[in-house]
Amino acid sequence: MMKKILHNRLINALADLRKVGLYNNIKTIEGPQGPWVMINGQKTLNLCSNNFLGYANDPKIKVAAKKGIDLYGCGPGAVRTISGTLQAHVDFENALAKWKGQEAAIVVQTGFIANTTLIPAIFIKGDAIISDQLNHASIIDGMKLSKASRFIFKHADMNDLEMKLKEIRANPEITGIVVIISDGVFSMDGDIANLPAIVKLAKKYDAYTYVDDAWGEFGLGNGQGTVAHHQLEGKIDFEVGTLSKGFGLSGGFIAGDAMLIEYLRQRARPFLFSTGLNVSTCVAGLAVIEDLQNSNARITKLWENVSYFKNKIKDLGLNAKSPTHIIPIMVQEEKIAQKMSKMLLNEKVFVTPILFPTVARGTARCRIIISAAHTKKDLDFGIEKIAKVSKELGLIK
Ligand SMILES: *Cc1c(COP(=O)(O)O)cnc(C)c1O
Repeated sequence: MMKKILHNRLINALADLRKVGLYNNIKTIEGPQGPWVMINGQKTLNLCSNNFLGYANDPKIKVAAKKGIDLYGCGPGAVRTISGTLQAHVDFENALAKWKGQEAAIVVQTGFIANTTLIPAIFIKGDAIISDQLNHASIIDGMKLSKASRFIFKHADMNDLEMKLKEIRANPEITGIVVIISDGVFSMDGDIANLPAIVKLAKKYDAYTYVDDAWGEFGLGNGQGTVAHHQLEGKIDFEVGTLSKGFGLSGGFIAGDAMLIEYLRQRARPFLFSTGLNVSTCVAGLAVIEDLQNSNARITKLWENVSYFKNKIKDLGLNAKSPTHIIPIMVQEEKIAQKMSKMLLNEKVFVTPILFPTVARGTARCRIIISAAHTKKDLDFGIEKIAKVSKELGLIK
């Protein structure tokens, strides 16, 4: 009987998702990640990968990852605190700290885990966390795991942030610390956080600052990220990053004061109770940092591509405003976004629809991510197909 209840619950839930256009049709890529990928045996232009500098299948980085396996094997053997901290972890953490301009860094399994590691480990009962309404899901989940009081400010609204700070400062239950958390670049709209205003308000109300720069690092600020873009080096207390986007790998990290990182090594639960980052990833990650220090050609190419593509999209008359390499084509209705994605795939262009709960209901979009690995010809092909499909859907004339 119990078994039947769950069976029916799932069947109905899945049917509902299909009915309202929220069912994820997950595509399998038959081969490596890159500007073109194989899907259903067809060579398809990839306009929706987070691998925006093209490192995921880069020959030099693959050599480094293989060297990592030769030197350290395939698995770390234990959680970091027992016997699973290998030299490659330490070397990579030191390089990350230096690159971020922070005293120390700690690597964890993913960017998602970085937020769910840091937030509950540091912020406790009596503290207040204020989070931008559009912050990443891993920040929201990290907050749920923390005993601190939680406040949300309207997306990018500095007046609302100040109101919340005033409220918190007048709240007798907040006896501990206050922290403002923001994405550096917002992953679904591509807008850049107003970090100068956040830092100013943090100073005025004696709050800490916390930036998750998954999308900004290796893109903005000549590769150093959103903090450098705003010339705020040294003004952010907690910095979180991912290895899954600009790095083209998989993993996450936290950078900050030496004492903060030392404390996380003692107390952060995913560090204590879950085996650490793949060792070969650490060697590959070092190679990515070195490669970018040798040349910023990829970043220059990324922004060249972004501006070329955005101008063409604007000329078409599509609704796609964004200052960064994340370019959402807004279509609002979930079913239209799904249809557009399906039609584009038929034209050999891969763009996934982004739907609730990733974004609010009725704000569905086809989110395009431009990569440094795309050529002008690739982008022209994409534009031509997007124009064709948008006309067929009546989005443009
Ligand atoms: C993508 C993203 C993450 C998750 O990173 P993973 O390494 O894929 O887990 C976390 N935070 C932000 C802001 C992101 O955009």
